[in-house]
Amino acid sequence: MAPLGSWVESHPEGIYVRPADAWIDPSQPKPKAMITHGHADHARGGHGAVLATPETLAIMECRYGPQPGQDTAYDETIRIGEVDVRFVPAGHVLGSAQIVLEHSGERIVVSGDYKRRPDPTCPCFVPVPCDVFITEATFGLPVFRHPETGSEIDRLLHRLHADPSRCVLVGAYALGKAQRIVTELRQRGHHEPIYYHGAIERLNQLYQSFGVELGELRHTAQANKMEMAGHIVIAPPGALNDRWSRRLPDPVTAMASGWMRIRQRARQRNVELPLIISDHADWDELTTTIRELEPTEVWITHGREEALKHWCTTHQIKACELNLIGYEDEDG
Ligand SMILES: [Zn+2]
Ligand SMILES: [Zn+2]
Repeated sequence: MAPLGSWVESHPEGIYVRPADAWIDPSQPKPKAMITHGHADHARGGHGAVLATPETLAIMECRYGPQPGQDTAYDETIRIGEVDVRFVPAGHVLGSAQIVLEHSGERIVVSGDYKRRPDPTCPCFVPVPCDVFITEATFGLPVFRHPETGSEIDRLLHRLHADPSRCVLVGAYALGKAQRIVTELRQRGHHEPIYYHGAIERLNQLYQSFGVELGELRHTAQANKMEMAGHIVIAPPGALNDRWSRRLPDPVTAMASGWMRIRQRARQRNVELPLIISDHADWDELTTTIRELEPTEVWITHGREEALKHWCTTHQIKACELNLIGYEDEDG
């Protein structure tokens, strides 16, 4: 008998599903690509045909222009070649999906990036029991245990209210994290205007066009310095330490990322207020998910594969790492 999952191949540039003649999240242009979510390291331009959720396709169009291909709603099964393909929610960012592949009596789930805790901007991860689970391991070390999101948001608000003459500048990845921080703040009762860096504008609008309520947002370019005092400003991480931030009233620099668990990462970016808020599964979420899905094999991608591989082995689950290139460990 052929080894489990032998119809799915791992190549440096992505996962190739042979009986569908299609790639998943390839880093090079391919004739047929199935895309788990819109982050740039998973969703590249230039493919011959793209299969993705409507939200992911819209994100790709926003970045690369019109995309040839087709969208697929969550939970719809479509036949591609000899494979039944279904996208189910991954809980990572707007439109993010796990791709469920069924062929010759085997089920393989490609998680893309995922998390298990609630996110007001996208539906929760749906566990799909499978034979092979292909998981990310961005935070695949026991040291990574993300605290409750609500308590991190409360720390942010506490700092904001402590000094109304300053603003709090929050560094957040432009796709997903930025909009999630806004919605988490709204859920915690913060209904003041939130200011944003221009680089986030189009994605904010895209989220709103899919029905995500962001409340009142204001572009920093249209604001004077003093009106931003006592307010939250959201910018991509790259803008935290650049000239742009001089237009802000004495900003307290914060950053929202799973990496803020590591003090040195916070120091590197001169972050005064590290907020551990991640769009990736932490160690407990990774291991709980594997227990729940009960796969026979786990294939591990981008990240600290070793510890998770060891954990699988001690739990009698076969595990291996896939050496895919081009995935970033941005959180993201
Ligand atoms: Zn991602
Ligand atoms: Zn990723």
